[in-house]
Amino acid sequence: MKTFLDWSAYENAGMGDAYADIPKTGGDFAKAVAVCINSGQCENTDTKGMMCPSFRVTQNSSFSTGGRVRLLKAALNGELGELPFTDPKLAEAMDSCVGCKGCKRECENSVDMAMIKQEFLAQHQALKGTPKRNRLFAFLPIWLSRYRASLRPLIRWRNRSSLLARLGDNWFGINAQRRLPEPTDKPFITASENRQAVTDAEKQQVVLFVDSYSRYFSSQIAQAAQAVLAASGYHVIIPEPTAETAEAHRPLCCGRSLLAHGQIDAAKAEAKRVLEVLLPYAEAGYNIVGLEPSCLLALRDDYKSLGLGEMAETVSKQSILFEEFLVREQMAKRLNLNLQPLSLDAPLLVQGHCHQNAVGAMKAMRKVLKMIPKLNFELIPPSCCGMAGSFGLESEHAEMSKDMAELALLPALREAPEAMILANGFSCREQIHAHDGRQAVHVAELLQSALVPAS
Ligand code: SF4
Ligand code: SF4
Repeated sequence: MKTFLDWSAYENAGMGDAYADIPKTGGDFAKAVAVCINSGQCENTDTKGMMCPSFRVTQNSSFSTGGRVRLLKAALNGELGELPFTDPKLAEAMDSCVGCKGCKRECENSVDMAMIKQEFLAQHQALKGTPKRNRLFAFLPIWLSRYRASLRPLIRWRNRSSLLARLGDNWFGINAQRRLPEPTDKPFITASENRQAVTDAEKQQVVLFVDSYSRYFSSQIAQAAQAVLAASGYHVIIPEPTAETAEAHRPLCCGRSLLAHGQIDAAKAEAKRVLEVLLPYAEAGYNIVGLEPSCLLALRDDYKSLGLGEMAETVSKQSILFEEFLVREQMAKRLNLNLQPLSLDAPLLVQGHCHQNAVGAMKAMRKVLKMIPKLNFELIPPSCCGMAGSFGLESEHAEMSKDMAELALLPALREAPEAMILANGFSCREQIHAHDGRQAVHVAELLQSALVPAS
């Protein structure tokens, strides 16, 4: 079987283990599936945690991590017919996986169902074609870079017209009740002084990777991060494509939405553009800081499965979340961040993005929040908000998405109606706004509001 992703990291998984139950076909991909030891932990509803939200809200064992593994093994063993990736029961089980990486973090054998789903989608779509809604959400960041001027009014019009919303529901399966995220009229533009190579050798330097969500939807977050880093004593470099980069006129995009929708070849092309631009900085030892968890972690983790060789490894080593960077720099006594107390009516509520939770980055978030004097905050128990990229916008998933939000997020918000909310994930902020009405902020915005004005 030819795979779209590079599964060679699993080459030795289960080898020599008579009980590994590795499927007959699928090569290293099958070994990645077979790391599940069928313990049933992912179907345990008594414990708290991230795994597995689709099972927790449905109690359907096919919608658990292990349930998906059972179906995938049957498919790779030829029990589901000659075209295993088109089996409707398997497709339904994979469809309800939100790619939260809860299993990668919490399953005792670290089954990576989010990555397995990417391969499944690519295989499935190679046989059955790509649904138009998948194409729409997968390529949205690229289309925004080209057609933002037309897309913005169209999205705004759709959000204000119930007729257009219903047509979108019928044609694309986009839930008419949900507001679509509206691109800002002021996208992030990189100033010339941030594009240039560093000239001030006295200053500390850092690369800020501005993802498509921070660029086209929430440009105030990228501006806030830039301001906080500059106030902390760093020269901020914002990498942009060069004349040598493919499609040099188009800003960089990590390709996360392409990966999540199984568009692996297109994701690889985006990743190559990003790596070509970032590689010189990574080789020179610069930290590459990212704001949107799933985008930065695509650089750090997901790119390694795209078969892009050493350059993916080099960039991965230098890629770091904004909050992780601040903590690391503080520990190294290089951070000169001068903050003052904020006046908040209630403890700040903090929703961790699933991918932040999956890599243990909420510890760094906690430490960063402690940098703000007297800040009172509470972390919402880790659990998927249910938005998961486009999942919460999809008609057939709308109810499941809300049920996932009810696992931890929405009850916590209801208990604290006066609280300000912090959420670093674009999806989490959209879900919070849709079901609660409050506009959550990114930690970069919170820190910016606490900066002591320069005298
Ligand atoms: S996926 Fe992980 S938690 Fe679930 S049954 Fe398999 S090994 Fe156990
Ligand atoms: S990625 Fe999330 S939804 Fe998918 S199987 Fe793992 S825990 Fe479940």
